[in-house]
Formats: sequence, C-alpha cells, structure tokens
Amino acid sequence: MCGIVGAVGINNPRDYALKGLKMLEYRGYDSAGVGFLDQGIKIYKDVGSPEHLGDILPTEIKTDTIIGHTRWATHGMPSKENSHPHISAQRKIALVHNGVIENAHDIKVFLKEKGYSFYSKTDTELVVNLLEYYYFEYKDMIQALIKVRSILDGSYALVIVSEDHPGTLFMLKKGSPLLIGKGNGFNLVASDASPMINFTNEFVDLDDYDFGYINKDEIRIFDKDSKEVNKPIIHKDVELISHDLKGYPHYMLKEIEEIDEVVKRLVSNYYQDNKYIFDDNLIKDLKESDHIMFLGCGTSYHASLVGGRLFENINNISTSKYIASEWAFHPTFPGQKPFVILISQSGETADLIHCMNVIKEKKIRSLLITNTPGCTLSKGVTYTLQLYAGVEISVASTKAYAAQVALLALLAGAINKDPKIVEDLKGTVKVIENIQKTLKEPIAQIAEEIKDNEHVFFLGRSFDYFLSLEASLKLKEISYIHSEAYPGGELKHGPIALIKEGLPVIVFITDPITASSMRSNIEEVKSRGAKVYVISTKDLAIPKDTLIVENYPYYLSSVAISSIAFYLAYYVSLKKGYNVDKPHNLAKSVTVE
Ligand code: GLU
Repeated sequence: MCGIVGAVGINNPRDYALKGLKMLEYRGYDSAGVGFLDQGIKIYKDVGSPEHLGDILPTEIKTDTIIGHTRWATHGMPSKENSHPHISAQRKIALVHNGVIENAHDIKVFLKEKGYSFYSKTDTELVVNLLEYYYFEYKDMIQALIKVRSILDGSYALVIVSEDHPGTLFMLKKGSPLLIGKGNGFNLVASDASPMINFTNEFVDLDDYDFGYINKDEIRIFDKDSKEVNKPIIHKDVELISHDLKGYPHYMLKEIEEIDEVVKRLVSNYYQDNKYIFDDNLIKDLKESDHIMFLGCGTSYHASLVGGRLFENINNISTSKYIASEWAFHPTFPGQKPFVILISQSGETADLIHCMNVIKEKKIRSLLITNTPGCTLSKGVTYTLQLYAGVEISVASTKAYAAQVALLALLAGAINKDPKIVEDLKGTVKVIENIQKTLKEPIAQIAEEIKDNEHVFFLGRSFDYFLSLEASLKLKEISYIHSEAYPGGELKHGPIALIKEGLPVIVFITDPITASSMRSNIEEVKSRGAKVYVISTKDLAIPKDTLIVENYPYYLSSVAISSIAFYLAYYVSLKKGYNVDKPHNLAKSVTVE
C-alpha cells in the first residue's frame, strides 16, 4: 500500500507533491512526507494527512527534484520517525518505499555489523542504508541498485534522491506499482497515473525488477537482466482516472451512485451488435475446462462466490471459490483441466500475486478481472478483463464489486451465447436508478435506528446470502460495528444463540425459490426479540417489509440492490461521525500478505 510521487524539472514541485499525495491518499494515510534536494537533502514528514504536511512544509521550496509518500505502516507504528522519506546514515540518499522487505532482519544484521544504527522501526530505513553502503562501495548508483536488487526479498517500489545526482530520480521496482509520466522538459513518477494526469497523458509502466532513472529530459530504464530497454508509451483515459468529487461530499457516495453507469458501460463494452465481445480463446479455454477455480480476497472473494454460482447454474461447469490467502499456501487444482479466475480491484493484491505465481509455475491458464489497466497481476495471467468502473477512491469498494459481478454474469452469458443475461443486466439499471431516487431517505432512517448497536446480523439465501456477506463486510469496514452474515437456513445451527432483544437483523428476500423459507427464518429471530428489517422485491413483498424494490432476476442481487447495502453502511458511518472514505486500519490496495 502507500502512495508515491516524484518529479524532476516541474514548475511547482511543492504543489505537485502535495496535490499528488492527496490523490494517492486512498492507498494509505497514516503519515505523509516529502524530500527534496536543496543544498543537501531536506525532509519534512509527520503522522497525518498530506493536508497536515502542507502546514509543515515551507511555502516556497527551491528544488527541481522532489519525492513524496503517503504511508500505510507495515513495519513500525505510524510516527514521525517511521514516516517516509527515509534518509541514509551519511545523508547521501533518501527514498520512499511502497511494499514490504521480507528479509529485513538479515539486512539489519548485516548493516549493524557494518556499524549502522537506525532511527526508525521500518524496513525502508534498512533499504536506504543498504543502498548507501553499496553506493560507497561501487561509487556508482546503477551498480549499487543492481546489487541492492539482488539482495532484497519482498515487494518494493522505490523512488530515490541522491545528493550526488541533482536533477535525477532513481527507481527500482518489484511487486508494487510504479508509473513514469513523460513530460516536456520535466518527468514524473507515481504509484498510479492520477497525480500526473494534469501534466501529461503519456506514461511508461515499469515491470518487476526494472530499475532506472529520470531527469528532466530523459527516461532510462533497465530490465531484469540490467539491459537498457525502450518501454512502450501508454496513454490513459482521463475520465476513468478522474478524482473529481463532482459535488459529492464523499467518494463512497459518488461511487455508489455510479453503479448504474458502470453496469451500462460494461454491457456496452462487452456486448455489441448482438454479440459478446470476449477473446475467442478465453471462451474456448473456459468451455474446455472441467473445473473453474475462483480466487479473491474480501469484497472480490464475495464477487467470486456469485460468479462461481453463476457458472454452475448457467453454464453447468463445476467451480470452487477460495479466499486467496488460504489457497496460496496449500494450493489444490481440482479437476483434470482447471482454469483459474483471479479477481482483484487493484490488480496489486499481494495474496493474489502469491497465487498467480503458483498458477504460472503449474502452467494453468488463468483470467484476471481487475479495475486497473496494466496492473501487476495482469502481467502474470493468460487473460485480463477490465471492469471499466473508473477509479475507485473510497477504501470500501462499492462500484467495483457490482462491476465484478456484472462482468462475471456477462462472461457466463458469453460461454452459452445467451443474450438474456444482457437483457437482465440492462434491467437492473432501472432498479438501481430507482433505489437512488427513492430509497436513500428510508435507508438513512434504518441507519439512524441501528447505528448505536454493537452487533448487527444480515440474512439471505443463495444469491441474497452472497450479498449479505458483502453488506456485512461493508458495515464492519466503515462503521466498526460487529456484523455477521448467515444463510437463513444456517441460523438455527448455531448463530441463533446470539439473537436477543432488539438486535438488528437485516434480511434480503429477492429469490422466489427461497422466499418462504426466509419468512420462516424471520419468525424465528423475531420470536427471540430481534428487530427485523426486510428488503424484498415487489412480487415477494408483504406490506410490512421495510424496503420494497422493483423486481429483477434474483441471480443479479449483487448488481441490482447492492447499493442498498452500501448506502446503509455509508449512512451509519456518516451518522457516527467517522471518516467514510478512509476507515482506520484499512487501505485500498492490499499489497502485503
Ligand atoms: N514497509 C514500509 C513501512 O512500513 C512501507 C509501507 C508502505 O508501503 O506504505 O513504512
């Protein structure tokens, strides 16, 4: 996690760094700092946000070489000392780091033997000193970088200033993203394109083990064999990476309200002229496979539960769904010809990168579903499908979840060449729009009623159960209320012991096959004092239900009505006075295992 910015030769480096860090804050926000060259290396850093950094940074800084960082701590608590940039013992080199050094202990022992001592608890301080050590030994930064690369285990995107190299930023990367922005008379670098998009739309993406440097006129990159390479220039769509709040008070609210557009965009990207637009080889591989495995974490895992059930129901293909961090250490490949679908909004999830390496080694064919073009995971899989959801800033994922499920439904439709899926998805757009128009107030009212509870339960069956899992996760993430989701039928096998007077139980009933069983489950919890809120579709509703939505095909619950779950979490968090977009302890892309 964490966000990195760097610039050489730009007009207002202070402004670029502060605004850039603000845009990258979704990647980590426990502390922030900048470093620059101005008669030696200067560093300003502290716990807190980039706004706070603005308060401690001089209003005028004279430099043309700057780096910045917004942190999500892995080694050492959030503190001024542990914040980045980190500077080497002789103050020759400073750097910012995104990632985790797995052999930090060995490096520390080595450096201690060489007489180094440390002011922070971070793995990053070890890297900067290791680099300085080899820089002194080789008297050459490129040789030092090659040596350091051969030592480091783990993940790292490093952007480096060196007192001896004014006007130059060095970089080295493995496992964490780094993108160069090509300017005219200046060059930029950052964790993603958003801080750079106002200055350029030409980018150079670094691959793992690449290193190199930029100055105001040059970009020079060397690959894993340390050979200089000419990287292709890529262009980014400004609209899809825009961080504009468009008048909304929070990104989460804006992103919930983009779900209808996201579904429409997905359909029009993957279905044109009455035909599905997917790579023929992908469809062939999926058809020929006798078992499709899904891997994901958190919200993406919940999407994979829906996807797996869709492939079973619609395509009659056997599937299994695994939490990536569980599968990674004990991988199994069911079936004779498995195919793996990995789901990751950021495309950087460390647990999935671990899985991807296992899959690659076994030469199993794979598909990545992601919202991030050119991401780390896309470089290791056979196929990649984009969600086209536009950048998601709020740490709690909303539109990307709905998009993941919608895309999996389209894929299931494409395997069977079934146009009905497309019609069904188009139909959900109206349901989503209707929720936006008519249900926000009543959902805010439920939020008001449940916000002071310590525990909340969500119940559903089948696709409504999968949605319940996501609803429960969302509530936990941003309201810090302990929440559980159970299949309605499972309740009596244990969790019912926890039902007590006044406990909020939120129930989804949108599946005609299970509706009457769910009604029985409601009676079970009601008779034990629960306060029940029912969300149902028109055809299955009874007048007393709390929220009644337009009908839709029940297998699309997670697309059609996930916004209800998201609004609920949003309003609870808002009413409790929490930072909706930046919940504590979390970050947007989980790049550590
Ligand atoms: N491991 C480093 C630290 O704890 C970097 C974390 C990050 O990527 O923000 O400071």
